Amino acid sequence: MSDPHVPEPVLEVSGLSVEYVLDRGVARAVDDVSFTVGRGEFLGIVGESGCGKSTLLFAVAQLLAPPARVEAGSVRFKGTSLVGLTDKQLAATRWRDLSVVMQSAMNALNPVKSIGAQFKDALRAHGVRRSDEIAARSAEVLRMVGIDPAHLRSYPHQLSGGMRQRAMIAMAMLFTPDLVIMDEPTSALDVVAQRSLMVQIKELQEAYRFAVIFVTHDMSLISHFSDRLMVMYAGQVSELGATRTVFDAPRHPYTQGLLDAFPSIRGAKVPLKGIPGSPPNLAMIPNGCRFHPRCPVAFDRCSVEAPDLYEQDGSLVRCLLYDDAASGSSSPAPTGGRADA
Ligand code: SF4
Repeated sequence: MSDPHVPEPVLEVSGLSVEYVLDRGVARAVDDVSFTVGRGEFLGIVGESGCGKSTLLFAVAQLLAPPARVEAGSVRFKGTSLVGLTDKQLAATRWRDLSVVMQSAMNALNPVKSIGAQFKDALRAHGVRRSDEIAARSAEVLRMVGIDPAHLRSYPHQLSGGMRQRAMIAMAMLFTPDLVIMDEPTSALDVVAQRSLMVQIKELQEAYRFAVIFVTHDMSLISHFSDRLMVMYAGQVSELGATRTVFDAPRHPYTQGLLDAFPSIRGAKVPLKGIPGSPPNLAMIPNGCRFHPRCPVAFDRCSVEAPDLYEQDGSLVRCLLYDDAASGSSSPAPTGGRADA
């Protein structure tokens, strides 16, 4: 599905559903998710743990392994379907056109190989054979992320957590890809290192115009860096819109709850409010709106009717408050935003 709001799409995800087949039942971790990412765009995906955001990333990157399986939908990268490609075809696309940076660089990097040897393996696997070219490109990408190329001789355990994550991002940049998929790449870092890594990712993205999909549970982190924001709840998109709009005027009660749950660095001090309860077990989804057991403004229809995604001034929101067709009423006012974000 092509989104008219996104010119020149690099990635088009349409009706994607992913299930985990478990002894205790089938858990649909991603349910009918559609979105598009434009060239050079930074899309943030947020939601609590277990909302399906990491599963979605793995499905987009075609990295799912049993018991997870894609049940329906398509993933098109630069016009070509990724679903159904052979491992060899996927390997040719990964790194060169589409890179993935996962949560823990310690798990992603090979502990018994130097950083330089791992860069060399990746370059050679994609046809770069000349030693001088390999050395030059490896040094260049390390410099791009602010690491002295002398560290090409270092092993992962000899680098700090922040440097390991930077080395992973450097590796993702070896071929200047069109899309970099990042799953909480800063979550293991302290706040200062997190911020500095985010600034660096944003600078690289603007300089080389690659698109980014960035998954996090941290609303404050993503607020300054993403162009659009997708909020996920219980495997579905609950809100999708321009980041500024979502922060200034969140429409979905869940988005509002997420925003109320992180501290403001500016403005008056207000007590933080958590969202009561916890996300549903994906093998036992509640009837009606999936958020209704936790929603502070739930009404009668919410426990029996599953809301669609309704368009509201260029944003999408999955909430019956916005079902103008059924209620015949005008759109409700947004519930308030965070001017500091
Ligand atoms: Fe809350 Fe009802 Fe909207 Fe769901 S549909 S978010 S329960 S108001």
